[in-house]
Amino acid sequence: MTTFQNFIAGKWVGPTTGRYFENRNPADISDLIGKFPDSSPKDVANAVQAASKAFGPWSRTPAPARGDILRRVGDLLVERKDALADAMTREMGKVVAETKGDVQEAIDTAYYAASEGRRLFGHTVPSELRQKWAMSYRRPIGVVGLITPFNFPLAIPTWKMFPALLCGNTIVLKPSEDVPHTATLLLQLLLDAGLPPGVVQLVHGRGETVGKALVEHPGVPVISFTGSTTTGAFVGETCGRMHKRVSLEMGGKNAMIVMDDADLDLALDGVVWGAFGTTGQRCTATSRLLLHKRVHDRFLERLVKRVETLVLGDGRKPKTDVGPLVHEAARDKVERYLAIARKQGAEVVAGGGRPSGKAFDKGWFYRPTILAGVSPDHRVANEEIFGPVLSVIEVGSFDEAVAINNGVRYGLSSSIYTRDVNLAFRAIQELDNGITYVNAPTIGAEAHLPFGGIKETGNGHREVGWEGYHFFSETKVCYVDYSGTLQRAQIDNYD
Ligand code: NAD
Repeated sequence: MTTFQNFIAGKWVGPTTGRYFENRNPADISDLIGKFPDSSPKDVANAVQAASKAFGPWSRTPAPARGDILRRVGDLLVERKDALADAMTREMGKVVAETKGDVQEAIDTAYYAASEGRRLFGHTVPSELRQKWAMSYRRPIGVVGLITPFNFPLAIPTWKMFPALLCGNTIVLKPSEDVPHTATLLLQLLLDAGLPPGVVQLVHGRGETVGKALVEHPGVPVISFTGSTTTGAFVGETCGRMHKRVSLEMGGKNAMIVMDDADLDLALDGVVWGAFGTTGQRCTATSRLLLHKRVHDRFLERLVKRVETLVLGDGRKPKTDVGPLVHEAARDKVERYLAIARKQGAEVVAGGGRPSGKAFDKGWFYRPTILAGVSPDHRVANEEIFGPVLSVIEVGSFDEAVAINNGVRYGLSSSIYTRDVNLAFRAIQELDNGITYVNAPTIGAEAHLPFGGIKETGNGHREVGWEGYHFFSETKVCYVDYSGTLQRAQIDNYD
């Protein structure tokens, strides 16, 4: 059994507490992956100190040179793709095809970051005065604290880390305590690619201890958080009080609309992938299906048949379609919501319980579940379950579907299946979400476009794409007056 460490100031070090926590495979809890540091605020303080020290040299390294290191990071991710995917599936359960996709997002983000090193565009604009130059450029900010969830163990930390590094910041990463191994493999990879020691620190541990200490540390002016809306509210509150720059990417309750003119075969493939990929544990998972009444019965019948064929099991086995939930508490939550759904009058038409059989005894498995007859005011139609549960709501019109989509507190992703181009464009305009897909499910974001949601999903920032770089850098404006005289803007050039 291996004991893993934090990485602070260029060294692998144990936690000042001397305590460690276990990390186990959710498909087979007898499989102990390792022990990881149960760190304290003191470890966070040490990490922030190291990151502050490294900030000077790293921020003065030319951006194209920082980009060159990130290109090597991308190359190593390509080389280690299979090993990383296997390790990720072992610690959080989603199937290997999906963890390979997770690595691929990190690769795409690394190469995008490498090329951004030669852009980091500012603006040069004409001045209103003669012989005066006016321009803006982007500066590094300082030590950035990254707090990440379990469901994309590599993609989300790298979405944040690579743009932050490219912009010249140094980093303290607090990964989810459910996926510490992937974060450790990432750190080792960064070092192998030539990242100077001290530029990134890794501190493992509990959110309420290590995450909280990072958010509260006065030496960390920027926090980028992805996780639940409840946790995000605490993070946002503290950052607001301390005047920190904060990006919050939080929960979702994403809907797919299937209109009566839709290609139903396509919509069927889409909803199965959108709802049950990653065992429903994606922030963009399709958790509501808004079915037009004219196709409702026949589509639902086909959907139930299809879902019953999904193979549940260990995500590392090639035939598995759906892996386990990440831990016991996640499965308990699904079970609680099933009881609520039944009590409020929804009908369980597929799944609805744990699978039976020895193969499932040691893991956090739950059968892919469909709830029919759900009403928009049911709790399962409004609250994030974060598991393999799809709520089906019958709708009479496009307008009703839009109103139901928009009626929840979240606003991450939405989708519509229709062949009517007018409806498709109306959906793009009228659905209140950060992302809308047409004739594709609610999942499938690409790493070079901004990602994020509105309402209680986000606080207005975006991850990755060109906008990710705005969050991790400060705009500085610079005027050069080469007239040799005092020129008073707004005064000397106007009466
Ligand atoms: P979580 O909120 O439980 O944990 C997220 C991170 O916050 C973890 O690293 C955790 O240790 C840390 N944390 C917990 N308490 C903290 C505190 N008091 N202060 C600081 N940090 C603290 O979320 P999770 O269960 O890991 O992930 C699932 C959630 O993440 C879902 O709600 C999902 O929708 C959301 N998510 C959102 C996006 C997005 O981009 N919008 C992407 C992925 C996941």
